[in-house]
Amino acid sequence: MSKEIRVRFAPSPTGYLHIGGLRTALFNYLYARKNNGKMLLRIEDTDRTRYVEGALENLLETLKWAGIEIDEGVKLSDDGKIIEVGDKGPYIQSQRVKEGIYNKYIEKLIEEDKAYPCFCSQERLDNLRKQQKADGLMPKYDGLCRSIPKEEALERIRNGEAHTIRLKLPANEDIEFEDAIKGKISINTKDMDDQVLIKSDGFPTYHFAVIVDDHLMGITHVIRGDEWISSTPKHVYLYKAMGWDAPKFVHLPTVLNKDRKKYSKRNGDGMVEDFREEGYLPEGLINYLALLGWAPDSEEEIFSIKDLIEQFDFDRISKTGAVFDVEKLKWVDGHHIRNLSDEELSKKIKPYCIKAGFFDENYSNDKLLLLTDTWKSAIEKLSDIETLARSYYVDDKDMKWTDEAVEAISTQKAKELFDIFIKVVESTDEIDMEFAKTIMKQVQKESGIKGKDLWFPIRAALTGNVHGPELVNAFVIMGKEKMKERLLYVKNNF
Ligand code: GLU
Repeated sequence: MSKEIRVRFAPSPTGYLHIGGLRTALFNYLYARKNNGKMLLRIEDTDRTRYVEGALENLLETLKWAGIEIDEGVKLSDDGKIIEVGDKGPYIQSQRVKEGIYNKYIEKLIEEDKAYPCFCSQERLDNLRKQQKADGLMPKYDGLCRSIPKEEALERIRNGEAHTIRLKLPANEDIEFEDAIKGKISINTKDMDDQVLIKSDGFPTYHFAVIVDDHLMGITHVIRGDEWISSTPKHVYLYKAMGWDAPKFVHLPTVLNKDRKKYSKRNGDGMVEDFREEGYLPEGLINYLALLGWAPDSEEEIFSIKDLIEQFDFDRISKTGAVFDVEKLKWVDGHHIRNLSDEELSKKIKPYCIKAGFFDENYSNDKLLLLTDTWKSAIEKLSDIETLARSYYVDDKDMKWTDEAVEAISTQKAKELFDIFIKVVESTDEIDMEFAKTIMKQVQKESGIKGKDLWFPIRAALTGNVHGPELVNAFVIMGKEKMKERLLYVKNNF
């Protein structure tokens, strides 16, 4: 029997989840599901200076929303509590530190002379770095503490002297590994640094904790963003030093912005939270993110998560950066919106309408469905409804008319038309669909105006635009009073 595939998403809870992070989680998830493997979630919080309160809850909630299910490690229970499942825990690194999990491994490395204590002060290291930069050299530790005899070093530690533990790299050795996407990577240790493995606060660095944990948790494939590829030789060397087999490495192409620069969270864009708030569907966002660096074996672009699981594989992941294109995201999301029934979509747009102040919780369901049907083909993300349907609900003084609309509503003939329109709608108590369909015929009959000269001014006056979806729907949605009020306002103000 072949070995069970085990992959992990290992975020540091330093803030909200970024699009690039969600894509990493997704690719791990797809690979796990495709191969009947396990998807783990481990929290890498050893950098206490970057810790952000509440970030973990938010992260887990966001993954759940996106439909990424965690099999093992840290996850949310059905009632929304943070829990850990699995027998290789704890799955939060700060707790693993507390349990002393990393100690014996670092002791082993020191004992075997593959790591050494370093007593250099931050000041010395800063000056060294400055000097190396000024000399045009690659900044790296100069190995001063390498030569301290082990016994002496251990004695200094016992006396409570501040120190870190560094990896002792061999002077001249090629480190090689095969990345599933980028191919063979090779680097000589003379171009690498004696990486700090244990910091002066006693916490392991990312590099040390990641290899210990991936090993102990039985991770078979490390799938992560390619910003980590330059760290991988250190990891490969550490696996060798520990006498462990390294997992397979799969580095995903960088997510770029339109200027082909890294689409980074430092600029504040690209937070999953924001896309969620704007009303992208999880199905749409996930579909789009799958295409960010991966392509199917066909022209097809719209996928359910089930389709993605079936088709996903590493061999169709690109080597080069993937540009995040929000227009494409909208296009993909629009497809998923149109896959919803009117009933489902109406429930999803309702909170956006309420937030925009169009109506309240008790709004007529029939009207909501009609509104949904009217705009379904134009909505690309749920919040679009706030702009699309605005004219039906806002106060006249807050209305905006396009230049074309203003032209259509300002003529004497248009104003006469509005009077006739008002007279027609006054002949009924309430405008239902049946009546709405007859309105324009009656107006035409009474005014003798037809075609464009008839429809343009009415549409322009009511909606602020000369183009748009089925106007008869707007008659029903707006109702008698609102239309009367709007037409009188237009008559008096233009
Ligand atoms: N904790 C790292 C991060 O924040 C994980 C890197 C890895 O997957 O090895 O992205």
